[in-house]
Amino acid sequence: MPHSIVTETCMGVADCAPACPVGCIKKAGSKNEKGNDYWWIDFNTCIDCGICLTVCPVDGAVIAEERNDLQKIT
Ligand code: SF4
Ligand code: SF4
Repeated sequence: MPHSIVTETCMGVADCAPACPVGCIKKAGSKNEKGNDYWWIDFNTCIDCGICLTVCPVDGAVIAEERNDLQKIT
């Protein structure tokens, strides 16, 4: 199952994006409700390796589930 980035928890620093082996973590074109840039995962490309979850410094920003309800895509 693909991973998701919880839009309203993401702090936008993007340790995750360069660590993803398939380049499927994308920068959103807008900010979240906290005013941070946020990133999102392309579910169709994610290979479920879990690296983003390991490198993200923010508790709860990455989850090992496909959650369209928590991850906005822009
Ligand atoms: S998911 Fe984590 S590492 Fe990636 S941009 Fe958001 S807070 Fe940063
Ligand atoms: S689980 Fe792996 S492939 Fe999927 S977004 Fe995270 S780092 Fe990329």
